[in-house]
Amino acid sequence: MSQTALNLIAISIFFMTLSVLLGPLLNLSPTIPALATFTILGIATFDSFSLQGKGGTIFLDWIAGFSSEHRDRIVHHEAGHFLVAHLLDIPVTGYTLSAWEAWKQGQPGQGGVSFNDDQLASQLAAGQISAQMLDRYCTIWMAGIAAETLVFNNTEGGADDQGKLAGILTNLGFSLSACQQKQRFHALQAKTLLQENWSSYKALVQAMQQRASVTDCQSAIASSECQVVD
Ligand SMILES: [Zn+2]
Repeated sequence: MSQTALNLIAISIFFMTLSVLLGPLLNLSPTIPALATFTILGIATFDSFSLQGKGGTIFLDWIAGFSSEHRDRIVHHEAGHFLVAHLLDIPVTGYTLSAWEAWKQGQPGQGGVSFNDDQLASQLAAGQISAQMLDRYCTIWMAGIAAETLVFNNTEGGADDQGKLAGILTNLGFSLSACQQKQRFHALQAKTLLQENWSSYKALVQAMQQRASVTDCQSAIASSECQVVD
């Protein structure tokens, strides 16, 4: 997990703990810190692809970028998030595939899929999130892991996703076992969605490898949907 991500998580856990301790005194609802964490960790991008503890700097990512296997894995991981978000009607606004690209776009981490969801924003502003909305986001969060599992039979880049999701769910009151169950359930849902739309997924991966714009990626998905697949 990258240092930035770790710092963010440490900060939000600190505020969580603080608000849990002070909450009763200040009459704070326990969902408020949970929603704040959701916002901090989730609103900008679905994930920051990490090198799993091996470092999170642009420099390390730049070295790793020389490995075509690593680049390939990132594209397949992010395409999973992108396609599932698209299928679940969450408007994707951009994607990055390396720390350098992310930095140029003013985002933290090592790449990810950005989105702009007015519905989520208004629910967060109102201080509540519907079960349906939470389920959609859980599925999108697990989609990177699901995609990697389908393509490579293992995962390298999902630690951030799982960590963030676990943080949000526990803050919303899920027990650890309920949280793990939910992660497994949504990973399976994401996997099914990807399998059902496999030709779209492959078209999207190809478009993203060519660094196509979001609009071009969306048309690649749309035109592959039109093809008859046996
Ligand atoms: Zn991810």
